[in-house]
Amino acid sequence: MRLLITFFLITTAALAQNTTPQLTADDAVRIREFYRLAAQIQNQIWPDWSRTPAPLLLVTPDTEFLTHHAEPPKGFEKAGDDLYARPRQFPTNLLATFPAFGPPSVIVIGEPRNTTSKTSTPWLVTLMHEHFHQLQNAQPRLLPSGARPRAKPWRQHRYVDVELPISVRKARDSGILRISS
Ligand SMILES: [Zn+2]
Repeated sequence: MRLLITFFLITTAALAQNTTPQLTADDAVRIREFYRLAAQIQNQIWPDWSRTPAPLLLVTPDTEFLTHHAEPPKGFEKAGDDLYARPRQFPTNLLATFPAFGPPSVIVIGEPRNTTSKTSTPWLVTLMHEHFHQLQNAQPRLLPSGARPRAKPWRQHRYVDVELPISVRKARDSGILRISS
């Protein structure tokens, strides 16, 4: 019996180690909605905005999830279709855009409840705002090629903010935005 219990413990430990972190259903929906929304409106707001890469790093309490990144950096393991994961390193309330892994700029953001956005809709609008920073940061003069952020790059977030010409209500009324909380 003791042998059986030991075997059971070893097996569960092995299983636990092999479990790849998974996005929650809510996070998956919100991320999908961001890319759907971006694809739908970005070029109406700024010509060729869609050419700007839009990698996103979602910071959850235990895990960071990276998506839409052409070359996932070392330390990330595959966690799904165009989704990579690593143990958390950034604060869960972070909300910034910077070349976390070298260019291109990555949106690094916590889950809505952990950020100032609190709920899904403001969070999505914030993501569009951050995505605009990706467009800005992709402009040649803003960040010299090869430049690396210093220890706390989000404190150096000094780019001119550009408000997106779209209100939450307008987006909802027009059906562009489907999430309502
Ligand atoms: Zn900003």
